[in-house]
Amino acid sequence: SFTSTNDIRRGFLDYFGGQGHRIVPSAPLVPQNDPTLMFVNAGMVPFKNVFTGLETRPYSTATSSQKCVRAGGKHNDLDNVGYTARHHTFFEMLGNFSFGDYFKEQAITHAWTLLTKEWGLPADRLTATVYHTDDEAFALWQKIAGLPDHRIIRIPTKDNFWAMGDSGPCGPCSEIFYDHGEHIAGGPPGSPDEDGDRFVEIWNLVFMQYEQEANEIVGNLPRPSIDTGMGLERIAAVMQGVHDNYDTDTFRALIGASESLTATHAEGAQKASHRVIADHLRSSGFLVANGVLPANEGRGYVLRRIMRRAMRHAHLLGAKEPLMHRLVPALVAEMGAAYPELVRAQPLIEATLRQEETQFRKTLDRGLRLLDEATASMAAGQTLPGETAFRLYDTFGFPYDLTEDALRAQNLHVDRAGFEAAMAEQKRAARAAWKGSGAKASDELWFDLAEEAGSTEFTGYAADTGEAEVL
Ligand code: ATP
Ligand code: MG
Ligand code: MG
Ligand code: MG
Repeated sequence: SFTSTNDIRRGFLDYFGGQGHRIVPSAPLVPQNDPTLMFVNAGMVPFKNVFTGLETRPYSTATSSQKCVRAGGKHNDLDNVGYTARHHTFFEMLGNFSFGDYFKEQAITHAWTLLTKEWGLPADRLTATVYHTDDEAFALWQKIAGLPDHRIIRIPTKDNFWAMGDSGPCGPCSEIFYDHGEHIAGGPPGSPDEDGDRFVEIWNLVFMQYEQEANEIVGNLPRPSIDTGMGLERIAAVMQGVHDNYDTDTFRALIGASESLTATHAEGAQKASHRVIADHLRSSGFLVANGVLPANEGRGYVLRRIMRRAMRHAHLLGAKEPLMHRLVPALVAEMGAAYPELVRAQPLIEATLRQEETQFRKTLDRGLRLLDEATASMAAGQTLPGETAFRLYDTFGFPYDLTEDALRAQNLHVDRAGFEAAMAEQKRAARAAWKGSGAKASDELWFDLAEEAGSTEFTGYAADTGEAEVL
């Protein structure tokens, strides 16, 4: 029987609600409690202060489906989108949380019960990883799930050890993988080809049990806690019997809309374009609904990059007019019931996309022509000079990663260091010109401030934004 993504979200929240967890609505994508973080990128982010004890809530266990964006900073999945079966820039993270209430045994029991009993997934498709020293979790997976030893994999890397930052709670994790079958390329977790789409990580359980100071474990937390995250789109793929997130109901509807508006099919060379468009439509729509507008720096520049990347793919599909805003009704139809802010913001999302695409289309054609000329004599594996990428950025409004994405199909690279050098040189020249103009010292101070604060167009993807490692 078919279970829709909307029903899976509801089912998850109802399961944990039925187990005494408070159902907490998704927080907005712009973090309310953490100025160092660009976007909420995990379900635990809105609960950070509860885990550290800075804040208390009238409940000790909670569950949510949290909107997440991973398109910059430490977690950047932008380049994966359209090319793996399992990554999005925008996705929903289903989670259950214990704030000093239940711990490891309960958390594993809940996860196993929901997956195999409530949802009836075949146990022999599931594999768990544990942190290599976490004998307790290993024994619990044997006891609770009856997993054979070879399907409880000890992982020695940071992938299975979580920390909120240099100081604060931390602890080992256990990741649950689903095996989509031999016909998909990829190996089990911990193997050399683990990066394929065969064994897909569906759920990450974090066991917060230690206290860290300056990167050293200094003791046990008085009240160990639980933080879990499961990708809604990934579990939907599993439950809908497809191996690819982009073949689930939500994505089929969005891709269907872009197919019919462009009169093309999501096949062959055009498949990635449709996927990028569907993914970026979701991140753009939700970011605008959460108050972010396209801009030349900060969060707004991350949004602009996402939008323009999608717009180049629309152009590739042959769109002669702005396309993205015409896809918004399909997005609202799929997700508006769960997220009423989308319905409220629909006119703003449409107007913003339309304006951005109209503006970008003025330079897109000419920029692509320049790119064609620049790459005409290049062979696969070669690198585009950084100055060319900078010119595309500066004159034609091509974000750096758009140029990279545009060259990907021909297996060409971009000289990032050269691009950054050209950018730095332009800033230096601007500053020199400013000085030469006899402007006051306070203006110079402003330049220093802007530079120090990292208030450039690039904080979104190049620099580590200093965000805490989450999940
Ligand atoms: P992966 O190793 O596959 O990149 P992750 O370990 O980075 O995933 P976590 O930070 O553990 O992911 O997030 C918890 C869950 O959220 C994952 O188990 C996965 O189901 C889901 N998830 C993470 N990143 C994405 C993404 N970019 N798109 C869709 N789902 C995601
Ligand atoms: Mg990841
Ligand atoms: Mg992982
Ligand atoms: Mg993980």
